[in-house]
Amino acid sequence: MRLILLGAPGAGKGTQAKLLEKQLHVKHISMGDILREEMKNNTALGQEVKKYVESGGLVPDEVVTKIIENRFQDPSIAQAGYLLDGFPRTAKQAEDLDVILTRINQPVDYVVYMEVDSEVVIQRLTGRRVCRSCAALYHVKNMPSKQEGICDACQGELYQRPDDNEETIRKRINVYLESTTPIIDYYKKKGTLLTVDGNTDAEKLRDELLTIFKEDGKIDTSKNKK
Ligand code: AMP
Repeated sequence: MRLILLGAPGAGKGTQAKLLEKQLHVKHISMGDILREEMKNNTALGQEVKKYVESGGLVPDEVVTKIIENRFQDPSIAQAGYLLDGFPRTAKQAEDLDVILTRINQPVDYVVYMEVDSEVVIQRLTGRRVCRSCAALYHVKNMPSKQEGICDACQGELYQRPDDNEETIRKRINVYLESTTPIIDYYKKKGTLLTVDGNTDAEKLRDELLTIFKEDGKIDTSKNKK
């Protein structure tokens, strides 16, 4: 299965990607996670992207596209499939991604567009917590960890992303509206767009998606038991 998840910040792409990854055994490629890992390790790339990520702006196209190009050199992708989360985010990235996917003959099956209300976005992002070690996602109200501040999966420390404050969230939403929404039309015209309700509970949405994939003959769910 080859998927792209599209949607505003807070649409639930990361949560959905983690749920689908478990069922479909695809390679989950989260651009935000990759950039935060580089920043955490203080690499040259991490230092280069920090100002964009922390201010809620977009990292330049050529930098993120290069990262994706490198990831797609992994030969196991042809076997496992992929799930892109947070890439592409601009028309240029979408066009360059097409070139890469055509070259390696791994065209996308669905671009899942998660539509979500703006109040839901603010509520989700201001309460979001992330594990510093394994990047698992929590929410102080909707999905709290068992022990406050500690990851259920790996006991790592939970933190609030510096770009999850109200001012930066508003900037990220504006950047999304300006730079990312045009690619919704791009995929609509290509016929790969699947629009779903991102306000829905994540597990319910996962089940809806799996049903669609199954009905379309894209997966055999007998191999994907929960
Ligand atoms: P996310 O974790 O998807 O919310 O991404 C966090 C931040 O990483 C964004 O606000 C951008 O600064 C940067 N970023 C992630 N993906 C991209 C992309 N495809 N293009 C440019 N910047 C990106």
